[in-house]
Amino acid sequence: MNDETSAAAREPGFSTLAIHAGAQPDPTTGARATPIYQTTSFVFDDVDHAAALFGLQTFGNIYTRIGNPTNAVLEERVAALEGGTAALAVASGHAAQHLVFHTLLTPGDEFVASRKLYGGSINQFSHAFKSYGWNVAWADPDDISSFEKAITPKTKAIFTETIANPGGVVTDIAAISAIAKKAGIPLIVDNTLATPYLWQPIKDGADVVVHSATKFLGGHGNSIGGVIVDAGTFDWSATDRYPFLSKPRPEYQGIVLHETFGNFAFAIAARVLGLRDLGPALSPFNAFMILTGIETLALRMQRHSDNAQAVAEYLAGHPKVAWVSYPGLKGDRYQALAQKYLPKGAGAVFTFGLKGGYEAGVQVVSSVELFSHLANIGDTRSLIIHPASTTHRQLSDEAKVAAGAGPEVVRLSVGIEDVKDIIADLEQALAKV
Ligand SMILES: *Cc1c(COP(=O)(O)O)cnc(C)c1O
Repeated sequence: MNDETSAAAREPGFSTLAIHAGAQPDPTTGARATPIYQTTSFVFDDVDHAAALFGLQTFGNIYTRIGNPTNAVLEERVAALEGGTAALAVASGHAAQHLVFHTLLTPGDEFVASRKLYGGSINQFSHAFKSYGWNVAWADPDDISSFEKAITPKTKAIFTETIANPGGVVTDIAAISAIAKKAGIPLIVDNTLATPYLWQPIKDGADVVVHSATKFLGGHGNSIGGVIVDAGTFDWSATDRYPFLSKPRPEYQGIVLHETFGNFAFAIAARVLGLRDLGPALSPFNAFMILTGIETLALRMQRHSDNAQAVAEYLAGHPKVAWVSYPGLKGDRYQALAQKYLPKGAGAVFTFGLKGGYEAGVQVVSSVELFSHLANIGDTRSLIIHPASTTHRQLSDEAKVAAGAGPEVVRLSVGIEDVKDIIADLEQALAKV
């Protein structure tokens, strides 16, 4: 191999992709940062061009609900970082999940989901999806065989998170992927908490990855957004169970999306059938904010993880703390899985329990000064919440405990401030308990 071909074959590293993938200087103005194409619609070259765009015979911009050049850079970048073939940017993480399942399920279908998920996803699956006739069966990520047991002839997908919010559960994605492959169904993975910097679940067998870009991808607590990544790995035509992909589409003159678009057909279907018709488009301004955030993803995720590790170790040694659930800690229940899947660090989000129970939890969130008391994660700032008095308040005591939100539980999303300031703030708040 000569030097030229070996240079061409070199794969750029993660940080390089995080800054450059999908972007180039604007061809008309030379603008180096990706411009915000704040326009609803795009002029056609002529009537034939318009017809080809509407018929999916050529790629291009029509209307920002369906696609936008700023959003397209974000899509290409996240696809590159996750190692997928294509992606679709949408208005929120929940919109991403909605479009993924809309592309896979018809009324009466089932899917299996881990019961350890972001609370909003549990609500979406239990209530909103039910009204579409999409039925969830819950499985336990601490007992992988429960995923297999929950599969029926109507099951069309498995859904899980890499690191599960809020409790620091590390999911054995490769083992769940083996179950999905055996059943001939795709594995959908929510990679919001790990981000592709810490974990690329496509390498472990995920067929579709979803993100709440609101969290660490954007990273600055200023923009809601979501992304769907197509791994290009699933054979949608092996059975007739995924008609959006494998059957002629009446919306597009009988085109079969999988046949036409091959290993990025899922991303196309989610766009031209889901996003086009259901409408949760991402604002180009938010795409710009999220792209800017992604440029520093590697730096931020490493600092988030390093800070969280130090804070977890500090809390584990504190006399008023009953327990700390962080996969980076020695002896943690998920330590072995974290060593396998998260060698760079175990992320920013974890929970700990206070010996003083509910009252102590309320005292700590009322006493912090640097931490912000709010219901979000993945900000540069350190965030704290006491689920039992806020997000999980409406649940029965039993349900609170089952959801990992018992009276003594406090959740942190450790920011990227100086770690000594983060620890000092917890120190003074704990002193008031
Ligand atoms: C926040 C979050 C979501 C939902 O995303 P939105 O952008 O708020 O719609 C989904 N999954 C996880 C793990 C989250 O943290």
